[in-house]
Amino acid sequence: MSDEVHKVAIMGSGPAGLTAAIYAARANLSPVCIEGGDIASKTDLPGGQLMLTTEVENFPGFPEGILGPELMERFRKQAERFGTQFVQGRVVEADLSKRPFTLEVHNTLEDTRSQVRCHALIVATGASAKYLGLPKEQELLGKGVTTCATCDGAFFRNKHVVVVGGGDSAMEEALFLTRYAHTVTVVHRRETFRASKIMVERAKDNPKIQWKLNRAIVDMEPDGRYLKAIELAGTEADQGARERLEIGPDGGLFVAIGHSPNSVVFGDQLALHDNGYIKIFDGTSRTSVEGVFASGDIHDHVYRQAITAAGAGCKAAIDAERWLEQQGL
Ligand SMILES: Cc1cc2nc3c(=O)[nH]c(=O)nc-3n(C[C@H](O)[C@H](O)[C@H](O)COP(=O)(O)OP(=O)(O)OC[C@H]3O[C@@H](n4cnc5c(N)ncnc54)[C@H](O)[C@@H]3O)c2cc1C
Repeated sequence: MSDEVHKVAIMGSGPAGLTAAIYAARANLSPVCIEGGDIASKTDLPGGQLMLTTEVENFPGFPEGILGPELMERFRKQAERFGTQFVQGRVVEADLSKRPFTLEVHNTLEDTRSQVRCHALIVATGASAKYLGLPKEQELLGKGVTTCATCDGAFFRNKHVVVVGGGDSAMEEALFLTRYAHTVTVVHRRETFRASKIMVERAKDNPKIQWKLNRAIVDMEPDGRYLKAIELAGTEADQGARERLEIGPDGGLFVAIGHSPNSVVFGDQLALHDNGYIKIFDGTSRTSVEGVFASGDIHDHVYRQAITAAGAGCKAAIDAERWLEQQGL
């Protein structure tokens, strides 16, 4: 194990982690950024969730839009320019019980392990959308399949979109999408909903929303590289029913079955909300452990946008810098 103790380590290289890196590096804190990503997964990548999308049209400063991976490459270059050191791999164990903190990093590419020690830690590990787990789902991400209505709704003006899910966020996404789409079909595997009654009523009162209840999506049919149709199978009372639902041309499927915050690695060392998101305190990025700061989707289950994550990364770097100064580090 190296004796080196970094002033600041950042977990995650999405908009939050890389913005924290830019600010910490410019404050001469020589941050180390543990990039994340898992070679076994197609959705957990260095660069974070925007690596899974094509056009990003709502990030300020890019009036013509920019491809998600290109935007993240620019973030990374800016962090590198001011001296951020990058470590490949993901943190698989974290000891926050004493300072300096110790992180065990697994490089999934080379299957090697190393340790990173730090006085201050910025957690920017994001939240992963839950997927249906169907064979063609991952290759169709950004090609008709998406997980974010706020981000991608405007691409589906006057098109047919399908929302799968039965919780509040599925109802919210469906209602939001009625602003753009000519028809929104909600597919849900039951007849009853986890969503609150008021949200379901609001959705049911909207004439643009149609329903496919007691139905599960069992297959996705691409037309070339783009989603064209989905195959539905009956569940519960309707078992055995089968139907094909046309989505294309240029329609979309919004998977709205929830998100998992990537906080598991901390076990019970950090205070979490019931839904697994990290708790932060007093309008800062401070967590329940002194010297540990959280930024981006890992604590924000409300906005979940690149710009809010970047803003939170900035706050975390400034909070860490001030805290280090108070500690005389
Ligand atoms: C398909 C799609 C399209 C989107 N489109 C838009 C859009 O157009 N506009 C917009 O504003 N937002 C969009 N979003 C939302 C936006 O991507 C997220 O809000 C934003 O990326 C959150 O940033 P973050 O840095 O908090 O987390 P993430 O981007 O999720 O990054 C988290 C990082 O942490 C890493 N990590 C996870 N666990 C560990 C660990 N144990 N150790 C080390 N690293 C770890 C991950 O590998 C990843 O690099 C989209 C999201 C998706 C999924």
